Amino acid sequence: MEAYAARHHVPIINEQGRRAFLQVIEEAKPHRVLEIGTAIGYSALLMAQHGAEDVQITTLELSEERARLAESFWERSPYKERINLHLGDAGELLQGLPRPEGGFDFVFIDAAKGQYVDYFQKIQPLLAEKAVILADNVLFRGYVLGQEKPPRRFKTIVKRLQQYLQLVQETPGYSTKILVNGDGLAVTYKGLISEAGFGFEKT
Ligand code: SAH
Ligand code: MG
Repeated sequence: MEAYAARHHVPIINEQGRRAFLQVIEEAKPHRVLEIGTAIGYSALLMAQHGAEDVQITTLELSEERARLAESFWERSPYKERINLHLGDAGELLQGLPRPEGGFDFVFIDAAKGQYVDYFQKIQPLLAEKAVILADNVLFRGYVLGQEKPPRRFKTIVKRLQQYLQLVQETPGYSTKILVNGDGLAVTYKGLISEAGFGFEKT
């Protein structure tokens, strides 16, 4: 999968981000995962492997080609019964998605970077009382919280990721830490006690 992703420029969770990603999964040991942005199914497999024993993953992907590839990879793994893919635009799919019993206790946001705010709002009714929301690429090449001005073509993405970080920071009942590994992971806790309302870490 890693070779395919490299050859075809599929942005799967990268080597620097992977260790931090796995630490978050291992710590949360989620039972009901929602993933927004499947790509070729790499992160879904990692979550199936490192989640709770009974983990079930619902994952959303826009590209039919990538969705089929993901399914063919899962087919060859011991986890195919644990993963359920929905094909389509995540913004639309989220509105019709049934809430599993107890709600999702883990959400991995990794699709259109301009839509994270929309995703965060739409997942609210689907969440468990205690949940972790992990968002990938939130530092976007260092431009989101950095001093350097982003090139024109990235301006909107950077602005929207800044809005996402602002939103998770300000929403009551949530606390967030940012892992600066890889392209930046925002770990947002709902209904869990955490020491800092907002902070940075490198694992
Ligand atoms: N989570 C994957 C990588 C996802 S890459 C991993 O780490 O292995 C981002 C994916 O989001 C791409 O495959 C892209 O097709 C998908 N995507 C982009 N916009 C989307 C949308 N509006 N709805 C659903 N998926 C979308
Ligand atoms: Mg990503």
